[in-house]
Amino acid sequence: MKIYWTKINEIIEETPEVKTYLLDCPKDFTWEEGSFTHFALEGFNSGDKPNRELVRHMSISTLPHEDTIGITTRIRENCSEFKSVLRNLDVGSNVALFKTYTNVPLRREDKNVYLLSQGVGLATFRPLVLDYFERADNIKHIHSLNIDSSKDFLFTHIFDPAPDKKFTSQFIDNRQDYYEEVKNLAADKDGIFYVVGSDEFLVQNIDVLREQGIKPEQIMLDKHEQERLEFLPVDLSILARLGKYNIRLICVKMEQNKIIVNR
Ligand SMILES: Cc1cc2nc3c(=O)[nH]c(=O)nc-3n(C[C@H](O)[C@H](O)[C@H](O)COP(=O)(O)OP(=O)(O)OC[C@H]3O[C@@H](n4cnc5c(N)ncnc54)[C@H](O)[C@@H]3O)c2cc1C
Repeated sequence: MKIYWTKINEIIEETPEVKTYLLDCPKDFTWEEGSFTHFALEGFNSGDKPNRELVRHMSISTLPHEDTIGITTRIRENCSEFKSVLRNLDVGSNVALFKTYTNVPLRREDKNVYLLSQGVGLATFRPLVLDYFERADNIKHIHSLNIDSSKDFLFTHIFDPAPDKKFTSQFIDNRQDYYEEVKNLAADKDGIFYVVGSDEFLVQNIDVLREQGIKPEQIMLDKHEQERLEFLPVDLSILARLGKYNIRLICVKMEQNKIIVNR
């Protein structure tokens, strides 16, 4: 595993609680729209074992051609050790990146794409939308729906409705209106629905989408295949891919809406 050490180049205060850390691009570091990385702070690998308190999964909120790696995160007053260390870092501080992977590439299947996000979950979608603006091939339309009860909405200059670009966007500050709107969007039985937020947010959105007849294969989650199984009912395409390990060792047990995979 290659660890890329780099420096913080700029810190943007997006809102009172949300910051974007722009990092220098290390040589050979590559990513694509929707990628996440392991973002680690100095000292994470100085002991016998890696200190997990100094490592977090983070989406990369920029595209490679912006020539900077963006990490956007909310830092509340009462926060974890990771965030309190991060909050005190300045431009020039060293940070590390490793194991970068994409679960949510933009699906170009001549369909409408719906991006459902909670708070800073919008950061995962920023590069998807920028990629779409640059190349709209094989996507009918993108609609973004973001809920943030703080009302300090993020990236409003990018997530600005642009009907000429076949892009629309809504920011909502309360759950009732949000889930009403998700139901409306799910009237499109052929759409592709990306969902990014807390686990509780994923469960509630999936429930609403499934009730409206949206199939698991139409739902994209920023989760590894095995984690995805905990959120979505049996998805044969995923089981088939798991089969590359040994399908006979996999026992799938359905418990209400949950699936537990035992190997
Ligand atoms: C694929 C993927 C991509 C992700 N992308 C992003 C991203 O782009 N941006 C992002 O911000 N997050 C992202 N996350 C989530 C991220 O990894 C963290 O889980 C999240 O930011 C919370 O960070 P934290 O654990 O440091 O807790 P905090 O955000 O600091 O706190 C979360 C809550 O726990 C409480 N809390 C924290 N520590 C303590 C403590 N010691 N005692 C008591 N209460 C405590 C806080 O008060 C707060 O309510 C992603 C996760 C995944 C899996």
